[in-house]
Amino acid sequence: MGLEFHTSRLADAVAWGRKYSLFQYPFVTACCGMEFMSTMAPKYDLARFGAEFPRFSPRQADLLIIVGTIVEKQAPVLRRIWEQMTEPKWVIAFGVCASTGGFYQNYTSVPGADQIIPVDVYIPGCPPRPEQVLDALVLLQERIQDHKGFSQVRLKAEHDKIISANKLVRR
Ligand code: SF4
Repeated sequence: MGLEFHTSRLADAVAWGRKYSLFQYPFVTACCGMEFMSTMAPKYDLARFGAEFPRFSPRQADLLIIVGTIVEKQAPVLRRIWEQMTEPKWVIAFGVCASTGGFYQNYTSVPGADQIIPVDVYIPGCPPRPEQVLDALVLLQERIQDHKGFSQVRLKAEHDKIISANKLVRR
């Protein structure tokens, strides 16, 4: 009981640190990029939420923000970038094109980033307002703190599997 209590408190403290030090990788493909820049600028000031620092290597990033339309040819590239990111990692689909394909119902467009990788938070709008983006970021931070991000849940399942396999070996 005592050890369990301490490890869960430690996990909460780590999650608190993670949610306020997100290193984002912007995958910007289309017109939503204009509004994304606005969100980064001083008026809306993403820095207040600890997620202002873009990394240009996925290996140094833990938050993938998909901004704009994704076409079929970009899909393997996006998947590879996501695979290269550090764990645990999170994904935001920025705008209706990244979330569902938007009005591009044709053979070249992917109908949403979640056809390729798991998405934690979707932001509607064409393009979304910066306030919506800030709202989505706060929502993501709540999910991180509650250990509900896709990546966190998957890592915990893998960890539990290893622990139970070790218990079986010890018996
Ligand atoms: S959601 Fe609208 S603004 Fe954003 S990429 Fe699609 S068409 Fe452009």
